Amino acid sequence: MTEQEQTEEKLFKDLGLSPEIQQAIDEIGFDKPSPIQAEAIPELLAGHDVIGQAQTGTGKTAAFGLPMLQYLDPANDEVQAIVLTPTRELCIQVTQALRSYAEHLDIEIVAVFGGAPIRSQQAQLRSGAHVVVATVGRMKDLISRRSLVLTAARFVVLDEADEMLDLGFIEDVERILRMCPSGRQTALFSATMPPPIKRLADTFMYDPVTISITPKTLTVDAIEQAFVEVPGRAKVDKLIEVVKEEDPEQAILFCRTKIGASRLERDLKNRGLDVKALHGDLSQGVRDGVMLAFKNHRCKLLVATDIAARGLDVDHVTHVINYDIPNSSETYVHRIGRTGRAGRTGRAITFVTPDQRRDLEQIKKDVKASISEWEKPEDRIEHARPPRRKRRGEQPAPLDDQPAVAVEEVEEFDEVVEVPLEGPGGDQPETASDDIPDAREGAVKLFVNRGSRSDITEEDLRWALREGAVLSDDQISDVRVLERFSFVEVDGDVAEKTVEFLDGTKLKGSGIRVEIARS
Ligand code: ADP
Ligand code: MG
Repeated sequence: MTEQEQTEEKLFKDLGLSPEIQQAIDEIGFDKPSPIQAEAIPELLAGHDVIGQAQTGTGKTAAFGLPMLQYLDPANDEVQAIVLTPTRELCIQVTQALRSYAEHLDIEIVAVFGGAPIRSQQAQLRSGAHVVVATVGRMKDLISRRSLVLTAARFVVLDEADEMLDLGFIEDVERILRMCPSGRQTALFSATMPPPIKRLADTFMYDPVTISITPKTLTVDAIEQAFVEVPGRAKVDKLIEVVKEEDPEQAILFCRTKIGASRLERDLKNRGLDVKALHGDLSQGVRDGVMLAFKNHRCKLLVATDIAARGLDVDHVTHVINYDIPNSSETYVHRIGRTGRAGRTGRAITFVTPDQRRDLEQIKKDVKASISEWEKPEDRIEHARPPRRKRRGEQPAPLDDQPAVAVEEVEEFDEVVEVPLEGPGGDQPETASDDIPDAREGAVKLFVNRGSRSDITEEDLRWALREGAVLSDDQISDVRVLERFSFVEVDGDVAEKTVEFLDGTKLKGSGIRVEIARS
């Protein structure tokens, strides 16, 4: 057996993780470690600094998160570990993942990020945090207000380091690293390794082990790649044609610049397409709303810049369209990795102007992929695409084995409400329409797919809202537990955050789904 094969054979139980962590992994449903996990976890457990290079969707969060959690001492209530993330979305995403891995540990994980009231984050830090997951700016702010000290932070993770570089945070990251104990363990994860990141590693890491996972497993096999050659001025029309022909369930359209992205959004909207844009010029609140709408399938097309879309764990994207050709092969791989996840097939279509053909040839060479000229789906010989699903509930179980989500019309609701299912014979609230309370003015009603039958009480839900979603009591206007599901009502401006923080987490041992229920 070659070394490569041995790596692939590795199981989580071979990695040296504690029974509590192993149990959480089993419950989440991870079968075996991904390659970056199989290699990074033992090194980090052994106390080494690690540089991990692997593209989006390869499981980097658990690769650093599991050994980090194992390192922590629950009895010590200092901040023992920090994770720096470039954006608020990633901060929330990483926090959710770490909390699920820490399900059976007595570990407090606090997320701090910009665009949210600093006071509630300060309060959470005061009541104790073993791990702080932070965006760079907010962490700096909390340090300067003396709400956060890093003198005991001996486990430091830089997640998506290249993106922090792109966003201009590298100097701040260095400043934060200098505040951590010099005897710390540092892990740096990044999809690409541009020279400034290498320099950062040289300066701030101690004899790091470099683990680099080549992207071949993720992209090339599962993704059908094509290109469209079109002069610059005809791009919008061609794009509309391609979108109509391909009829994607959901697609991300990549642009190189923020200006280009907002222009494309406007052009597509003017032509009646269902599109939203995600780029750095938008306020955090708007970005959160766009992300949530896209994740919840309330919008079909997302126009994005590289920075805004990177690192985000968006499932079920059937198409990636490079409206602007990426500026490097690494970025190409990174972009198209948004589709074809979890064993599904996806399509990636790259637009090139005639003078960009050379760039395309370079990408083909680097990625070793066949990228053929796009043709209309009916003209293609293969019909390898699985049948289109109309409803989310008909999708096969995703990689992480979360309960599938079905869309059901519920009487008394003006709009379609997404009702999570529990698998066979899952809960459906058709009998409960009389019990649905009207939301207080300015409040938003959320649906939770668990109720008294899962042993959930009003107190449990209030606890989850306070602790999990960081709400104060006066932001919670109503909690109503029914037999098989519940409704909670929270202030409108914290509703999306509540969903982000609680959806997919666990309460009394049951996974819960939280969705906005419009009435
Ligand atoms: P990255 O940080 O590399 O982009 P994430 O840590 O966000 O990747 O993981 C991507 C997705 O893969 C997540 O939905 C996560 O739950 C899932 N995942 C991670 N590790 C495994 C595993 N060993 N088996 C199955 N799914 C996994
Ligand atoms: Mg990540």
